[in-house]
Amino acid sequence: MTADRYSNLLSPLDLGHTQLKNRVIMGSMHTGLEDRFWQFPKLAAYFAERARGGVGLIVTGGFNPNKKGWFYPFSGLFNSRFDVMNHRKVTDAVHREGGKIALQVLHAGRYSYHPFSRSASAIKSPINPFKPKAMSTKEVEQTVKDFAHTAYLAKKAGYDGVEIMGSEGYLINQFTAPRTNKRKDKYGGNAENRRRFPVEIVRETRKRCGDDFIIMFRMSVIDLVPEGSTREEVLELAKALEAAGSSLLNSGIGWHEARVPTIVTSVPRAAFAEATRQVKEVVSIPVVASNRINDPDVAEEILKSGQADAVSMARQLLADPDFVKKTEQGKADEINTCIACNQACLDHTFQLKRASCLVNPRACHETELLYLRTAKPKKVAVVGAGPAGLSCATVAAERGHDVTLFDQAGEIGGQFNMAKVVPGKEEFHNTIRYFNKRIENTGVTLKLNTRVAVADLQAQGFDEIVIATGVLPRTPGIPGIDHPKVLSYVDVLRGKAQVGEKVAVIGAGGIGFDVSEFLAEHPRDGEQPLPEWMKEWGVDMDSDAPGGLVEPEVEKPARQITLLQRKPTPLGKDLGKTSGWVHRATLKSRNVDMLKGCSYEKIDDAGLHIKIGEESRVLDVDHVVICAGQESLRELYQEEAKNFHLIGGADLAAELDAKRAIRQGAEVAAAL
Ligand code: FAD
Ligand code: NAP
Ligand code: SF4
Repeated sequence: MTADRYSNLLSPLDLGHTQLKNRVIMGSMHTGLEDRFWQFPKLAAYFAERARGGVGLIVTGGFNPNKKGWFYPFSGLFNSRFDVMNHRKVTDAVHREGGKIALQVLHAGRYSYHPFSRSASAIKSPINPFKPKAMSTKEVEQTVKDFAHTAYLAKKAGYDGVEIMGSEGYLINQFTAPRTNKRKDKYGGNAENRRRFPVEIVRETRKRCGDDFIIMFRMSVIDLVPEGSTREEVLELAKALEAAGSSLLNSGIGWHEARVPTIVTSVPRAAFAEATRQVKEVVSIPVVASNRINDPDVAEEILKSGQADAVSMARQLLADPDFVKKTEQGKADEINTCIACNQACLDHTFQLKRASCLVNPRACHETELLYLRTAKPKKVAVVGAGPAGLSCATVAAERGHDVTLFDQAGEIGGQFNMAKVVPGKEEFHNTIRYFNKRIENTGVTLKLNTRVAVADLQAQGFDEIVIATGVLPRTPGIPGIDHPKVLSYVDVLRGKAQVGEKVAVIGAGGIGFDVSEFLAEHPRDGEQPLPEWMKEWGVDMDSDAPGGLVEPEVEKPARQITLLQRKPTPLGKDLGKTSGWVHRATLKSRNVDMLKGCSYEKIDDAGLHIKIGEESRVLDVDHVVICAGQESLRELYQEEAKNFHLIGGADLAAELDAKRAIRQGAEVAAAL
C-alpha cells in the first residue's frame, strides 16, 4: 500500500556509476558545526542519524574552497590534506549507516562577511556592508581550480560527490546574472560568457575527480531579483552544465537579497517546482526540486507529475531525521513536520549560533540531548498540553516513565491552536497532529477538560510534577480598558468576537503582527492558493522577465488596521531575523498603518485616544485589540517542593516562544 502510494519517492535513482536508494536528498544547511574541526564528531552524529533514517543522499553545509570565499572569517574552509582527515569522521559515520553524502562547495562572493571579499564586479550587496573587489581574469581561473581542488580533496575524504553551489546569489550566481556581472573579459558581456565560470568549474571538477563521482550543481532556477537571469538564460545554463559533466542539477530559488519570500511558512508548499520542471524539459540528467517540500504526498506528486526526478528537503530533515523511514513504513502521520518558522535553524545561522529545530531540539545536539530509557520509571504529572507540556510528557513517556498529561481545554496544543488560524501559519496544525500521534505511541495518559488544582496532584501520589500551564494575556492599565470596543487577541483568534471594519491593534510583537495579518486577510480555508500568492509577490515563472519578476497585484485588505507600539523603534524590529521582513512587507501591502512612540490615553465611544510626542490623536475605530504581551500562569507551582518543575510560559513569559517551550520540556524530561 505504502510502496504504491510513494512508489516514485521511494524508488532508486540511477546515476550511472552509482544509485541513490530513493529520491530524497537532504539539502545543504549551514549548522555552525562545520566551522571547527573539533565539532566534527557532533557533525558526524547529526548526519549519521539522517543516514539511519534512510535519506538517499545527504549534502553537507557549504565549505569554502579558499579564504576569499569565506562566509565570515574562519568559517568552514576545505582546501588542505589536514581537512581530509577530519572529514573522514563524517563520511565514515554516514557510510556505516548505509548512506551517501556529498560535500557542498560554496564561495560566498559578495555575501562574504569580511573586507577582502571578491565578486564578478565591484558591486555591493544590499545585505552586506562590505563592498567586494572585482576578480581579475587570473583570479577567476584560479578560483575554478580551487573549486575542483576542494572536490578532489572531498573525494579523498570519502565523499560520494560534491554539490557545487551556484545559486542563492553566491559567487557563481553573481557571475551568471547581469545584476552583478558587468565584466568585459571572457567571463562577462553576454550570457554565454556569464555562464563560462560555472561551466569551467564543472568541467575541471569532472577532470580532477573522474567519472565515478557525483557532481550535483545547484543552479538558480529563478533569481527573483531585478536584472536576474531570464528564463532562456537559465535553460541555456542547464544545458551547458549537463554538457560539462554534471551528474544532476539541484534547484536554488531566489537570492538571499530577494524581496520575495522563498522558504518561510507562508510560502505555499512546493511553490517553485514549476521552475524546476522547465529545466527538466531541456536536459536528460536528473533534476531536483526544492523549497517548501516537507510532506511525502507533496514530494510524491512532484515526481509523479514529472516536475522533477528527486526532491531536496533540508529543514524537514532537521525536524525529523526519520522522514524516509516513516514514509516507507506507512507512518507518514507520525512525521514531525517542519513548520518553516526558521526560528532555530536559519535565524540561528544568521546570529552565528548553532542551528537546531523548534520542533526537534535534538537536531544538531544528537550527542548532548539524549532520551535514554530510564532504569527507574516514575509516576509523572504534566499539567498543560501546550508545546512545553507536550514535549515534556512525550519525551518522559518515551523514556519509560508513567506519564499523565492534563489540560483544562478540550484539545491539546495550547496557544498553537491560535497560531494555526493565522493566515500563512497553517503548518502549525501539523505540530498538533504530530503530538497527538506521539501521545498515542508513547503511552501518555491524556486527560483533557481537566482543570487541575494542587490538591488533585498531591492526592494522586505523583513522583514528579511538571507545571506547563503557560501564560495569560496581559491587560494594560489604559483608562477605558473594559469598554465594549476592547477585545483580547484570544477573543479574536478563537472566533469569539465579531470584529468591525476599523481596528486598532495595541502591541506590535509577534502576536500583534499575526493578529493584524489575520484581520487584514479575507477569510479562506487552508493555505493561500499558489497563483494568488505568485501574483501578490510579483512572480511569473512563465515569463522571460529578468529574475522572473513582474508587477505585484495585491487584493484590497478586509479591514483598515492601525498597529501601535510605545517604543520609538521601527515596528517588527524584534521579529525573526529571516522572517520578520516578510511580515512587515505583508502588512505594508495590506495598507496597515504602523505607529510607533505612542502613549495610550484612553478608550471610549470615540475610539482610541493616543499621543505621539506632543500630538494628540483619536483613532476612530470599531474595535481595539490588545496584544500587549503575557504573564506567566503558575498558581500550581510549589516552590518549596523538590518534585515540582516549571517549564515554558509558566516558567518565564518574557521572550517566550515555542522554541524555548519545546526545548525546555524535552530537557526537563530527559533529566527526570
Ligand atoms: P501554552 O501554549 O500557553 O499552553 C499552556 C496550556 O496549559 C494550555 O493548553 C492551557 O489550557 C493549559 N492549562 C493552564 N492552566 C491549567 C490548569 N490549571 N489545568 C490544566 N491545564 C491548564 N511561538 C513561536 O515560537 N513561533 C510562532 O510563530 C508563534 N506564533 C504564535 C502565534 C499566536 C497567535 C500565538 C497566540 C502564539 C504564538 N507563539 C509562537 C507563541 C507560542 O505558541 C507559545 O510560546 C507557546 O505556546 C508556549 O507554550 P506553553 O506550553 O508554555 O504554553
Ligand atoms: P511581545 O513580543 O512581548 O510583544 C508585546 C507587545 O506589547 C510589544 O509590542 C510591547 O511593545 C507591547 N506592550 C507590552 N506591555 C504593554 C503594556 N503594558 N501596554 C501596552 N503595550 C504593551 O509578546 P507577544 O506579541 O504577545 O508574543 C508572545 C510571544 O510569542 C513572543 O515572545 C514571540 O516570540 C512569540 N511569537 C512569535 C511569533 C513569530 O512569528 N516568531 C509570532 C507570534 C508570537 P511596547 O512596550 O513598545 O508597546
Ligand atoms: Fe523547520 Fe522551524 Fe525546525 Fe527550522 S526551526 S527546521 S523552520 S520547524
